[in-house]
Amino acid sequence: MPILIKAYDLLKEYRLSENIIVRAIDFEQQKLEIKESEFLVIMGPSGSGKTTLLNLLGGIDRPTRGEVFIGTTCLTKLSERKLTRFRRHYLSYVFQFYSLIPTLTAIENVMIAANLVGIKGKKAFQEAKAFLQKVGLEERMFNFPAQMSGGEQQRVAIARALAKHPQVIFVDEPTAQLDTKTGLEVVKILREISQDGTTVIMVTHDEKMAHFGDRIIFLDSGKIVKSKSIEPLSANMM
Ligand code: ADP
Ligand code: MG
Repeated sequence: MPILIKAYDLLKEYRLSENIIVRAIDFEQQKLEIKESEFLVIMGPSGSGKTTLLNLLGGIDRPTRGEVFIGTTCLTKLSERKLTRFRRHYLSYVFQFYSLIPTLTAIENVMIAANLVGIKGKKAFQEAKAFLQKVGLEERMFNFPAQMSGGEQQRVAIARALAKHPQVIFVDEPTAQLDTKTGLEVVKILREISQDGTTVIMVTHDEKMAHFGDRIIFLDSGKIVKSKSIEPLSANMM
């Protein structure tokens, strides 16, 4: 598969006070390349820079130095307005807390995302239904978030992410609120999504979840300290 995402020489500093600067990501001379359809997992201890890296790759945050490309688009060179538009059309995000709209049903939550990229009416409904089926929630389509378990809400959030037909889905600790069995169900869905052709980048600190990826990179103090490919067979057999 061709490379989809490239990050070069990334540096992200946060200034805490006059003299205190935190280097959250520090890839001096290091590059990171992620293939189309790859399921990349980012691991590392708390505070190692995982969320910062995800946000830089996903155009949620801008680096202090360095560049991020998705396809031929250099995110770091886009104006705020163009970056927002690029994110809206090509990128989706799933977070630890599902952030569904509580006053809308599952299918309405998914349809809103479809509407954002111009998929409207009956088509939006049918696609939303199909994505909810894909995550195993066809029977919950007309339920409100409060009527669903954490795992079910997270699956709605994944269906919502899919509704835009994004190139990349960025996922930060999607299973942190879930028990192991439910968490594994969620990660297996993410694996399927990547096998269907969408690039998935997931932060987790749970080794059991990480092994569903194609590759794990380990961060420490803002640097990539290790990178490991996962045998395709071993993950499929789980
Ligand atoms: P992780 O997701 O691996 O736990 P983060 O990427 O959230 O780590 O944070 C990396 C480092 O950057 C930490 O030292 C954290 O305190 C710091 N940091 C993250 N976000 C901010 C921020 N908005 N302002 C100041 N420091 C931050
Ligand atoms: Mg984090």
